[in-house]
Order: sequence, then C-alpha cells, then structure tokens
Amino acid sequence: MYAAATQPKESAVPSQDITELWQRVQPQLRRDVGEASYNSWLHPIIPGTFSQGRVFLQVPTRFIREWVETHYLDTIRRTLRACDPAIRGVELTIAPGEASEARPAATPTVSQTHPSSAAQPDNESLSAPLDPRFTFEAFVVGKPNELAYAASRRVAESQAVTPGANPLFLYGGVGLGKTHLMHAIAGHIRTHQPERRVLYLSAEKFMYQFIRAVRYRDTMEFKEQFRSVDVLMIDDVQFISGKESTQEEFFHTFNALVDNNRQVVISADRSPSDLEGVEERIRSRLGWGLVADIHSTTYELRLGILQAKREQLQAEVPDAVLEFLAHKIASNVRELEGALNRVVAHSQLVGRPINLETTQEVLRDLLRSCDRRITVEDIQKKVAEHFNIKVSEMHSARRSRSVARPRQVAMALAKRLTSKSLPDIGRKFGGKDHTTVMHAVKRIEELCRTDEELAEDIELLTRMLRG
Ligand code: ADP
Ligand code: MG
Repeated sequence: MYAAATQPKESAVPSQDITELWQRVQPQLRRDVGEASYNSWLHPIIPGTFSQGRVFLQVPTRFIREWVETHYLDTIRRTLRACDPAIRGVELTIAPGEASEARPAATPTVSQTHPSSAAQPDNESLSAPLDPRFTFEAFVVGKPNELAYAASRRVAESQAVTPGANPLFLYGGVGLGKTHLMHAIAGHIRTHQPERRVLYLSAEKFMYQFIRAVRYRDTMEFKEQFRSVDVLMIDDVQFISGKESTQEEFFHTFNALVDNNRQVVISADRSPSDLEGVEERIRSRLGWGLVADIHSTTYELRLGILQAKREQLQAEVPDAVLEFLAHKIASNVRELEGALNRVVAHSQLVGRPINLETTQEVLRDLLRSCDRRITVEDIQKKVAEHFNIKVSEMHSARRSRSVARPRQVAMALAKRLTSKSLPDIGRKFGGKDHTTVMHAVKRIEELCRTDEELAEDIELLTRMLRG
C-alpha cells in the first residue's frame, strides 16, 4: 500500500521488513533530533521499500522532503546503517496522492484548518503547548547556568520589556535547559500577567507558518498575528538558517516587535555570531540585547539536579547512586534524567531497592558509552592513526590536502562526539579560529553526502571512538 509510482518495484526486502526496521530506529532518531523536530519532520515519514541497498522513504510534501533532506538525511542514514550495514543510501519520495502542494502539509503539530477559512488560529493556538514541569522552581541553578537563569527570571518578572535584555538570547548545547527556561518564562508571564500576549514557538514552526501563509497568500494575516504579541519567544532559532524569505520575514517581525517595545526571547544551540546560514545583519541584531550562554554541566550541578529529581520522583535512591550517576553521565541533563528514570522504573518493576550494583546493571549500555568519555585528544590520535599522519599535524597550519582533510575530519568528529564548543575545539587544534572549525564541520558534512568512502571512514572512526 505504500508503493509510490517513483519507486522501483523490484524491492529486495519486503516492505514489511523495512517497516519493522523503520520502527526499530524511531527511538534513536527521536533522541538524536529531539522531540519537537522529530514530531514536526520525522514523524510524518512512512517507510517505503528497500532496494539494492537503498531505502526509500515517503514524505507528505515537497517542502518536508527538502527540509528533511537538508537537515536530517545524514542522521537517518547513519541510524539506519547502524541497524543494517547493507543500507547504502536513503532517498525521500513524495507520497502518492499527497504530492499536490495545493493543500496544507500533514504536519501533525500544526492545526489543519485551512488558513483562509473563517476559523483563524489565534495566538494561543499558534503557540506551542508549554510543559508544566518546566518551571523556574524546578530549574536547578549552578555556575554553568546562573546567568541564563537570572536573565530569564528578570524578563519573566518585569512588567514590560526588560531594558538591556531585548532580545534575550539564550544559547547552549543540547539538553542543557534552554527549552526549560523558555517554558518557564512563558508560563510565568501567562500566570502573573495574563493580559500580556505571549507567543512561544519553535523556529521550525515559525517557518512552517510563514511558508504556509505565503502559499495561501495570507502573509498579512501572518504578519498581524506575529506583530500583535507582547512577548515573542522562538526556540531553536538555528533552524531558521538557509531559507532566505523566512529569514527576511523573521527579521522584519523581530525588528517590528523590538521597535515597538515588545519583548523578544530567542534560544539557539550556538551564539548569534555562530549562526551560519543566517544573514550577517540578522546575526548582529540578535546579539544586541542580552546574550546568555549555558555552559556544560559541572559535577555539582549534575548532583543537584539528580537530588531535585529524586525528590520529585519520591524515590528511595541512595546518595552513592546519585554521586555515581553525576560522575559518569556528564553529557547533558536530558541523558542524566533519563538514566535516573530508568533506574527508578526498573526498581519499581522488579520490586527491589536501588543500589550501585543494580544501577550499573540497568544502565550497562549507557555507561559503556559514557565510560569512554571521548576527548578531543582521543579523536586526534585515532584520526591521525587512521589516515597515517602524525598527531602533531593536527595542530599544524599546513594546508596540503593529505593533512588538512584528516584535520577537518577530526574537527568534525570533535564537534559530533564531544560537548566542546567551536572555540574550544579550535584551541585544541593549534589555536585555530572557531570559524575554521565551523568550516571544517560543514565541509565534511557536505563531502559525506557524495563521498561514500569518507562517510564510511567517519562511521568507522565514530564506532571505534565510542568503543
Ligand atoms: P535544551 O532545550 O537546551 O536542549 P531542555 O530544556 O529540553 O534542553 O532540557 C532537557 C531536560 O533537562 C529537560 O527535562 C529539563 O527539564 C532538564 N533540565 C535541564 N537543565 C536543568 C536544570 N538546570 N535543572 C533541572 N532540570 C534541567
Ligand atoms: Mg530545546
């Protein structure tokens, strides 16, 4: 029933198997891309066929296809390949019957109402739902996030726009609490100043709304909806990169709001100046207000978060177990919480108390991957060995391809496998600028799309490094 006209008929693997394989990789994909992106972009995908090493996946519209291709195809390919090495490539096709762009894309997170019908979505329905658990009270403050927390609180508590903090730009790596703080701000304002209109949404949804408005020639409506709010909050703004017309609209919306003394809060996984693919004037404007970064967690903060979480769960977890987890799982808070949840759920299931031994047993896989907490030095060493160059070349400035390419590979892997920032990574490669690292990451991503051998080298290195 899934066969599309554009797909080859001689599928080597029955579509049932590909459906099963696709099911199997969903949890991993969800983790890799994050809940919101997963729901918007990957959830609508329907597995098609598997033929001659190529997996065909179906998406509802051309727009989703383009978006998934540019943002998630590598992740999808990598994840599928990890499950079945016979998979060489992944292709996206538009599902038959849905190919016509004449109706709204079937993105589940967006209201399906025709935009020009009488029932216009108001700000409330445009706004993404807030997670009630993401409050200021539930946010544990420590050195790495104190600035972001204080700034967020100030914006949430002030009656009007916060001087010097418009826009408030929060940035930091995955799972460090950006969305939590955004929801906390939005929730606080809605509760304490219900007359102020707060619009919170992801950059992806902003783009989606805009593109839909353009498609239905409803951009006036779009503009009004966005420009009539008191507080505009856009999460994960790095996703706005690329699409020029959306960036343009975003920029105008943003300027109009700031000029009219409305509060704007933005989050991203990197600083404004590192938002590649975003026009220079927008980047600089984003940095005009208060830029607050969230650093990687420290042991103390992780322990604090685990203690708070234990309280919430009202579970009997020995201190030694919390200390053990805080020590071992340093990547991000999401993973840390996930680990504690798993340990507690397991103990409730089997009806046995939690101790260090059961913890290690339940989390064996996770701990194994965390145990080898990969350092930039490990990566440099492995990559140098693999490409047969000296480790010292990783720090050199030589530009000949034979050393420059491996160096770029190592930088790209450092970005992918460690939580180091671009400037940190640059420093470890003989004091290179963060733009050099960014360029390397981009270049390697591009090359991997066409150069299968390089893609495989990188897969192999990743596996070796992850142990
Ligand atoms: P991001 O948006 O930066 O990727 P999230 O805000 O989604 O990260 O945070 C991931 C998870 O970690 C959420 O469940 C959030 O509640 C939790 N979290 C992150 N930082 C903290 C903190 N300082 N205190 C309590 N919970 C936190
Ligand atoms: Mg987030």
